[in-house]
Amino acid sequence: MLNLVLFGAPGSGKGTQSAKLIEKYGLHHISTGEVLRDHMKRETELGKIAKQYIAEGQLIPDDLMINILDSVLEQEAKGKKGVIFDGFPRTIPQAEALKELLRKYDSDLHAVVGLEVPEDELVERMLNRGKETGRADDNLDTIKKRLDVYHSQTSPLRDYYTNEGKYLKINGSGNVDDIFNTISDAIDNHKK
Ligand code: AMP
Repeated sequence: MLNLVLFGAPGSGKGTQSAKLIEKYGLHHISTGEVLRDHMKRETELGKIAKQYIAEGQLIPDDLMINILDSVLEQEAKGKKGVIFDGFPRTIPQAEALKELLRKYDSDLHAVVGLEVPEDELVERMLNRGKETGRADDNLDTIKKRLDVYHSQTSPLRDYYTNEGKYLKINGSGNVDDIFNTISDAIDNHKK
């Protein structure tokens, strides 16, 4: 399996680039944010719990999030060429759990694509997305909280994966297709 993590701050383009990578490499996409939004839409018990955290810009607790990913993988990963993890892991315990989970499939993580985008551009992109899609957590107040959470809880994963030799640093500013080409080259060169 070719398993990739799409890593970056909220608004860094993970969803956009995932869609293009799936097409090119024939991978299966798992976005934990989308999984949670789907539960919220269907008003499941999990959706009700998730809604409170998401509205506050906070992360869903690790134990719960890891259990959710475990069951999504069980339903969706079998027989796939690989998975793109979009929005997971977001903490060190989640990264440790991902290692364990992939071991169940005799697999591991190939690379972590890190989209790096200046903060003012992130805010602008999320405000635009909020206007276009009506996504409730794309408002200035929640965006600021999400960025704080990213810096304190998620960004340490950059060093974690750099130490493992898996972090591919990508300039995530500019034209979507140019960024995609840079990512593809980085993945292909990393394979060799
Ligand atoms: P995203 O669509 O990836 O920006 O995620 C939207 C929101 O869902 C986040 O702000 C978190 O509240 C929650 N969420 C998504 N993925 C995770 C995760 N791996 N761990 C904890 N919370 C998450």
